[in-house]
Amino acid sequence: MYIDIRKEIEALSAETVGLRRDIHAHPELGFREFRTANIIERRLADCGLRVRRCAGTGVIGVLEGAKPGKTLMLRSDMDALPLAENNELPFCSQNPGVMHACGHDCHVAVQLQVAKLLAAHRDELPGTLVFLFQPNEEEIGAPRMIEQGALTDPRPDAILGMHVWSPIQTGKVGMVSGPCCASSYYFKATIRGKGTHGCLPERGVSPIEAGRHVLAAINSMQTMEYGTLDEPTLITVGSLHAGDYMNIIPDELTMEGSIRCLHRNEAAVHARFRELVTAVSAAYRCDCDVSLTCGNSMLENDAQLAELARSVAAGVVGEGNIVSEGVREMGGDDLAEFFLAGIPGFYYLVGMGNRAKGSDAAHHSRDFRVDEDVLDLCVELQARIALTYLDAL
Ligand SMILES: [Zn+2]
Ligand SMILES: [Zn+2]
Repeated sequence: MYIDIRKEIEALSAETVGLRRDIHAHPELGFREFRTANIIERRLADCGLRVRRCAGTGVIGVLEGAKPGKTLMLRSDMDALPLAENNELPFCSQNPGVMHACGHDCHVAVQLQVAKLLAAHRDELPGTLVFLFQPNEEEIGAPRMIEQGALTDPRPDAILGMHVWSPIQTGKVGMVSGPCCASSYYFKATIRGKGTHGCLPERGVSPIEAGRHVLAAINSMQTMEYGTLDEPTLITVGSLHAGDYMNIIPDELTMEGSIRCLHRNEAAVHARFRELVTAVSAAYRCDCDVSLTCGNSMLENDAQLAELARSVAAGVVGEGNIVSEGVREMGGDDLAEFFLAGIPGFYYLVGMGNRAKGSDAAHHSRDFRVDEDVLDLCVELQARIALTYLDAL
C-alpha cells in the first residue's frame, strides 16, 4: 500500500497538538478517566472503528483491514497523577491537584491520530490493528483489562507500546531488546516483640532493635549478593513505623518498601528476602510476617520485534539517533502484564528532553513539560512500525 505518511501527519499536526492540550487541561486519575474515555470512544467511532469499553474507562477500537493478515495491538495509557501543576501555560490543568505529569496525555493524542491516519487507508490494509487505551497505568491497571477480555476479540499476535521520555533528548529514540523495565514488588514486614517500659528493656523484646538489624541486613543483601551488571536488584525502604512515646518500647514495628529486579531470578530474590528478614528478626527474639505484592512484572522486549522497530526507526531518525543508554530502568510499566499473557511485545522511548523549552524536567514532577514537537514523530514511528509489522509498506 502507498501512504505518504509524513504529508498526512503534517496535515493532522495542529489537531494532534490541540487534542493533547485538551486532555492535558482535563487530567483524570486512574480508573476515573471518564471524560478522556468519552473523547476516545467518540473519535474512534468517527473513524469507523469497532469500539468497546473494557474495565470501566478502558477503550478498545478495532480497525479491520480489507485484506487478511496479522493482528497488532497498540497500547496507550490514559491516566494522570495526584500532583498540582506548577507550569504557566494556557492549557494547564483545570482539575486542581491532578496533572498529566508523565506524558500519558501525549500517548492518547498520538494513538488517536495513528488510528485516524490508518483508518483512512482501511481498503489497502492487510490485517487488523487494535487500539487499546488503558486506564490507571500508574497503579497497574492492565490486569483488570486482561481479566475483562482485552486480549480477546481479536487476540493480538503482538503488542506495541511507546512512552515520551524527558531524560532522553528530543530527536533521539531509546530502544533495547530483552529486559527493559524492572519488576517491582512491594513488601511489608511486621516485626513483633514485647512492649515494656523504656527503663526496663530486659522485661520485653524491642522490635526496633530487630528492625535496625533487618535494615542493615537487606542493604547488605542487595549490594553483596547480586551481580551489579547481570542481576540488577534494588531494595529500598520507604516507610518505617514503630512506637509513639519516648518512654515505651513498643510491641511492633512495620517496614514497607520495594524490591526491583531487572533480571529473571526475581523469585529467588524474594525468597532470600523473606528468609533473611525472618531470620534476623528471630535472632533478636522477634516474630516476623513478610508480605509481597506485585507492583509490576518485568517488561522484556521481544528480540524480533525489537529488530523490526529498530530498522524502522533508523529510517526515520537515522541510526545515530537510536540510543540504548538510559532506556533500561528500575522503574516499571504495566504494559509488561500484556506481554506476560503470552503475547510478544515491544516498548520504546521517544526522547523529548529539551532544556531550552523546559521539557527536561523529571516525569512525575510538578514542573513536567512536554516538547510538543515530538508528537508528529511519535505518530510516524507508531504508524510505520505497525505498517511494517503487517507487511503493508
Ligand atoms: Zn508515570
Ligand atoms: Zn508513564
